[in-house]
Amino acid sequence: MTDRLKIALQKKGRLAEDSFALLKKCGLRFSIRGGGLLARVKNMPIDLLLVRDDDIPSFVANNAADIGIVGENVLVEEQLVSKNELDAAIAMRLGFSRCKLCLAAAETGKVQSASDLSGTRIATTYPGVTGRYLSENGIDAKLVEMKGAVELAPSIQIAESICDLVSSGATLEANGLTAFETILESEAVLIRSARELSANKSDILDKLMNRIDGVLKSAETKYIMLNAPKSAVKEITDLLPGSDSPTIIPLGGPEDLVAVQAVCTETVFWETLEGLKTLGARAILVLPIEKMMS
Ligand code: ATP
Ligand code: ZN
Repeated sequence: MTDRLKIALQKKGRLAEDSFALLKKCGLRFSIRGGGLLARVKNMPIDLLLVRDDDIPSFVANNAADIGIVGENVLVEEQLVSKNELDAAIAMRLGFSRCKLCLAAAETGKVQSASDLSGTRIATTYPGVTGRYLSENGIDAKLVEMKGAVELAPSIQIAESICDLVSSGATLEANGLTAFETILESEAVLIRSARELSANKSDILDKLMNRIDGVLKSAETKYIMLNAPKSAVKEITDLLPGSDSPTIIPLGGPEDLVAVQAVCTETVFWETLEGLKTLGARAILVLPIEKMMS
């Protein structure tokens, strides 16, 4: 029997859906149903271990899983809490689940900025990262460790400020809080331990990471097609974001038009399209690219 690569993933929550979607885009076929801890990938020797996100770094470190997908915030927190004894490190950044760990307080309270923190209480579920920030900045404040609902701490008067994850800021706003300092920026990351994998697992992991790389690159990459007056081709191709050598095809018809086709590796904004149009480009099409391998 071949060795199966075991990937620890969040079972349910803000990371889960995007993690499953990424693996599906990499061609893994599986279904997550019911309350099972393990899901088998049907077409590759991979098993998915479905757990709470907080357990992912230690599962990877302790060999319960070979790799994991987790928020960088959770990895850094677990590292700090274990005093850097956790054998798990970032192998690849994944670009989704972006959020920030921020200090926030009531608009009208006594803490308005980091310089007001000394002698106050900060509620957080991230004592490791918050504690590191405080000691690096020589701030003497008390940490109130909570398991959840941190945003309620100021209103029930157990802390003057909080340190919590923020993405849009809507939760803070709904609780009358304003962020005044970012102490960590986070995104989903693929983590692994320093342990050597069997040759079999190592091959599967290489293949998976190559596919992830392809998925991440193709997400931004677009195929642009347009018609342009011959005289404007140079200016138009200069405007195409991150394209090397566009294909230029002469078109029949009375006008002196060419078709330009190019792979653009950077985001194509509406402004770019408007710029192309101003230069005389017409019939502009921007197409998604499903898969890429170079
Ligand atoms: P679990 O039950 O697995 O412990 P959880 O409640 O700790 O779940 P979620 O709220 O699902 O965790 O968040 C998981 C991760 O998603 C966070 O650690 C963070 O990396 C990321 N994330 C992205 N946006 C946000 C956000 N707005 N708020 C909180 N986390 C976010
Ligand atoms: Zn969690």
